[in-house]
Amino acid sequence: MEFTCTVCNRRYTPELAMFRCRCGGYLEYREQRAFPSAALAERDHSIWRYREAYGLPSECRRITLGEGRSPITRLEVPEGTMTAKLDYLQPSGSFKDRGAAVLISLLAYLGAQHVVEDSSGNAGAAVSAYAAAAGMRCTIYTPDYTPEGKLLQMRLYGSEVRTVAGTRDDARKAAEQAGTRSAYASHLWNPAFVLGLQSTAFELWEQLGEELPATIVVPLGSGGYVEGLHRGFDVLLNAGYLREAPRLLGVQAAHCSPVHTAFEQGREHHSEVEVAPTIAEGIAVQNPPRSPAVLNALRSSGGFTMAVTEEEIRSATAALLQRGVFAEPTSAAAYAAWRRLSRSERAESVVILTGHGLKQLTKLTDLVG
Ligand SMILES: [Zn+2]
Repeated sequence: MEFTCTVCNRRYTPELAMFRCRCGGYLEYREQRAFPSAALAERDHSIWRYREAYGLPSECRRITLGEGRSPITRLEVPEGTMTAKLDYLQPSGSFKDRGAAVLISLLAYLGAQHVVEDSSGNAGAAVSAYAAAAGMRCTIYTPDYTPEGKLLQMRLYGSEVRTVAGTRDDARKAAEQAGTRSAYASHLWNPAFVLGLQSTAFELWEQLGEELPATIVVPLGSGGYVEGLHRGFDVLLNAGYLREAPRLLGVQAAHCSPVHTAFEQGREHHSEVEVAPTIAEGIAVQNPPRSPAVLNALRSSGGFTMAVTEEEIRSATAALLQRGVFAEPTSAAAYAAWRRLSRSERAESVVILTGHGLKQLTKLTDLVG
């Protein structure tokens, strides 16, 4: 397995303390490997049925909690029927388990005994869960607005939680510093995390077959999910399993929209924007390190971005709850964007609901109770 710097093309064999290039650039796994479709019938229903696509060394032991294979269902909402992939139904309650399973498997293979991560919630919970499964110590740096339920979840898995005053970026910097002394299990930087997120593209292809939607609507913070989906569909195209990939609609909160702003301005790197607190704290990432890859994924899929307001997110969260869907506000932001599409666009879309509302009981009560 080899990672390549996206800035200077230097190549690296993955090592514990490495999460980016010496030049500061982010790394990517350039090789593309497809899984053999004929073998799928005999494989278990988790992300590991597509194991070849993650590029892990063959001796690498899988750290797994049964992640993947989330249901796709048709939900009746006020605007009509919405096709949703319920990706909050994962072991730790969010899509991040897909990336954490692959990343922690790799770090365990490299000999990690202690991992650090920075997160506003879901990634921290996911890394905590898989670190526990692997028998590793885990330290999570969180911004001070992290919801209490998510902090408790990290602690219950046995992680040490360190709250960093200031912005989301301050938590990232603290983790990066600590990561040079142990292993930085970064969902923001590490390409292995993105490799695991490809699995959703493979599942959509397997679950929907010929009826793959024209548009996939997904919340966008660091943009890892957009990058992973794009990569996954690329693997399917190159393997000849698919003729046309869906376009990706990345949804940001208007209060923190550096990627949306850059997309609108035609830029290749995220924009510097004024930010304000948002109830969709899971997508409040002011400086996403992999933004060029994310913007490229959006554009080459023929996709686009939207920035939804706090009122739209609040209303979308409430509407889902009223129909029995317990998604967190960050997930509901995707539904808020779907509401803005035309009737025919809505009919040909799948909305990915990424995080479980059970982690945020207090917040949801304040919001709609
Ligand atoms: Zn470099």
